[in-house]
Amino acid sequence: MSFYENTLELIEKAAKLMKLESNIKAVLTSPNRILEISIPVKMDDGNVKIFRGFRVQHSDIAGPYKGGIRYHEEVNMEEVKALATLMSFKCAVVGIPLGGGKGGIIVNPKKLSETELEKLTRGYTQRIAPFIGPEIDVPAPDVNTNEKIMAWIADEYSKVRQKNTIGVVTGKPLTFGGSMGRDKATAQGGFFILDALAQEHGLEPGKTRVVIQGFGNAGANAANILDKHGYNVIAVSDSKGGILCEKGVHPIKAQECKLQKGSLHACTIPDSKYEYHVSKDATCTKISNEELLELDCDVLILSALENQITKKNASKIKAKYILELANGPVDDAADTILEKAGVIIIPDILANAGGVTVSYFELVQNQMNYYWPKEEVEERLKAIMQQAWKHVRKRQEEHGCSMRMAAFIQAISRLSELMKVRGTI
Ligand code: GLU
Repeated sequence: MSFYENTLELIEKAAKLMKLESNIKAVLTSPNRILEISIPVKMDDGNVKIFRGFRVQHSDIAGPYKGGIRYHEEVNMEEVKALATLMSFKCAVVGIPLGGGKGGIIVNPKKLSETELEKLTRGYTQRIAPFIGPEIDVPAPDVNTNEKIMAWIADEYSKVRQKNTIGVVTGKPLTFGGSMGRDKATAQGGFFILDALAQEHGLEPGKTRVVIQGFGNAGANAANILDKHGYNVIAVSDSKGGILCEKGVHPIKAQECKLQKGSLHACTIPDSKYEYHVSKDATCTKISNEELLELDCDVLILSALENQITKKNASKIKAKYILELANGPVDDAADTILEKAGVIIIPDILANAGGVTVSYFELVQNQMNYYWPKEEVEERLKAIMQQAWKHVRKRQEEHGCSMRMAAFIQAISRLSELMKVRGTI
């Protein structure tokens, strides 16, 4: 089953549980607009290379389309459709006035020079410029995109429009209309959700062993935040593999080392020159990504890509709780196996909604041209995440279902409300 089929299956299941009108389901399973574009880039060697890109605008019933742009070799239209759909649901779970969209370019950005990457980004922006804008569709960072890329998009779009329009993207640098706390927002929001769960389940940070898959923006920041709150982060991984440090990973050192040496695997041997003791007792072992997922731990945080836990490995998972900081990391077949085994999954559209929530704050600040201090952003994020947690838990009790289904029901209820008010149905 593809990621998009899986997403449609989740909507189908939630629709049954809540006895949803078929008209509403039909609207929710049909993205409003799908763009496929070609971007010619003159490479450093003088050759022209054509890149393929996408932007899917799923729903703007709740507000302008909102969602990241992913740069990855395996990006495809079906994936972007799934991600755009999840964005509409995610914004609805946290109750922010934004719709759902997503974009992507088929590229491995690590293989491009900085100049080529900038040309590609500006080319993509020109192609989608007629369809985006602060009140139309607002992209943001996602896998392999960052604040530098967002700044290029804002700059290019402003040139196309002949006026400063920085609210066209979020996740910008602080000096160029970014919001305090946006860089850590996905992880920070996930932490507030995990904290609410910990309180309900009596989890004590010091006795809670955490494993994190993915060491990009979400994973690395999550490792750092959890470590600061006394959780025992015993293993982390990036696309090349993982490291297991029984006495705990040193997140900041691991980040510094990965930056210097290119991978976490290269960081297992203490390096006296840089003092990269990425483990708290200077002992670490290399493990594969598969081994990492199957480690004996309390909380498994998935912050890499979709379809990481499927029917192939679901029965081997030993974690008691799974926090989905990535989008779609556990598929529907795995959900069923894990649920039977008593594993509690905190679904993506709740767990990782902190990112888009602070993106919303960034938009609001851009519109006011007045910027909040870090503490204010964090307080507002906390309030929204805690409220979303309560709403989802309430739905779960009402329907006696998984947290994923409860989050879908919460989202669909809000979107249905809006469709009725707006006269769509
Ligand atoms: N790419 C992030 C996500 O999947 C953030 C989207 C945004 O901030 O618009 O939620």
